[in-house]
Amino acid sequence: MFCKKCGKEMSENSRFCPYCGEENEVLANKEEKQADPAAAYRAMYNDDNEYRPIQKAPAQQESKVIPILALIFGLLGGWLGLLFGIIGLTKCKEKGNKAMCIIGIVAWAVWLTILIMQNA
Ligand SMILES: [Zn+2]
Repeated sequence: MFCKKCGKEMSENSRFCPYCGEENEVLANKEEKQADPAAAYRAMYNDDNEYRPIQKAPAQQESKVIPILALIFGLLGGWLGLLFGIIGLTKCKEKGNKAMCIIGIVAWAVWLTILIMQNA
């Protein structure tokens, strides 16, 4: 291909013309399209969203599933209480959820202690 600015021959694969430094337009356009294929899709279908104020999604409440599982399994006794307790503690940020995970782990520890004492 030839540089569109200075007209000298340049490689199609080089980003800039080696003679004048002009950007390789073909390559630049190609890279732009490859960068974010979803952007083109969004531009096509969400154009009208630009003119509407974007409605803020309500603050997402943290799922309580794992803390509740930690609590239940911990109280029932068993390693699942510890497992869900640890998973819950690493994933949950809300105080209530963390507390449930901790209670689950404590309940698991009590269960384990009882188990050890019974076997001793
Ligand atoms: Zn050039």
